[in-house]
Amino acid sequence: MNCKLCGEQKTLVKKSHIISEFLFESLYDADRKLREFEPFSISKGKGRIKRPSSGKYEGNILCEICENRISSFETYASKVFDFSTGKSKDKSVFQIDTKEWIAIKGLNYDRFKCFLLSLFWRASISSLNEFAGTNLGPHEEEIRRLILGGFAGKTMDYPTYIYLHNGFNGNNLQFISPPSVHKTQTGHLVYNLPILSSIISLYVNSRNHPYPYGMKETVLNSQGEIKIVKLTKELSTQILNKHLKLNL
Ligand SMILES: [Zn+2]
Repeated sequence: MNCKLCGEQKTLVKKSHIISEFLFESLYDADRKLREFEPFSISKGKGRIKRPSSGKYEGNILCEICENRISSFETYASKVFDFSTGKSKDKSVFQIDTKEWIAIKGLNYDRFKCFLLSLFWRASISSLNEFAGTNLGPHEEEIRRLILGGFAGKTMDYPTYIYLHNGFNGNNLQFISPPSVHKTQTGHLVYNLPILSSIISLYVNSRNHPYPYGMKETVLNSQGEIKIVKLTKELSTQILNKHLKLNL
């Protein structure tokens, strides 16, 4: 079978995570059982529902070399960024934390962006039911090339940002959910992926469409800077509700 990343005919690994395993660390309880939430029920005030742990991994999609390629991006991301706080874990990375945003400088742009892109790409190539709604279309191939080469392109090639939410109505619920997609007023497709308290947003370019005002200041740029906007309680609730409706 052919590896989905390098395209070569090779023996493929039995277990590739679609959403990186390290992101789930804080969702494990003391017995190493994954606490799964049904965010939609919680948003409606119905409390926590446990579901059996479903596989977020898939076999026969990547060869060992490509599995390692992606895992090196994962290792980097896990060392520099905390998706539950929106802050940098790496003390050598410069950070300013205000009430409205967190500015981070000194990230390795290619490695961090390839990691973020790989999450959407993996969801797009996955045949698991929960990712059936994620399809990057013709961009899947372009993003595959970026990840394979380990170069994330220019800042505005598949611009990627991270927002920080605080759950539904300020309940600070952290969860991981498959990406949802919606179309902006300016005609772009945006994929949103909630990871713990972060929402990773990927803009898929229609090159002639203008980007929203202020976007260039917050997006992960090729100098390794990103500004993470902290959403208000109201905006968090609104965005997460929209995400869940598109995902249900
Ligand atoms: Zn491969």
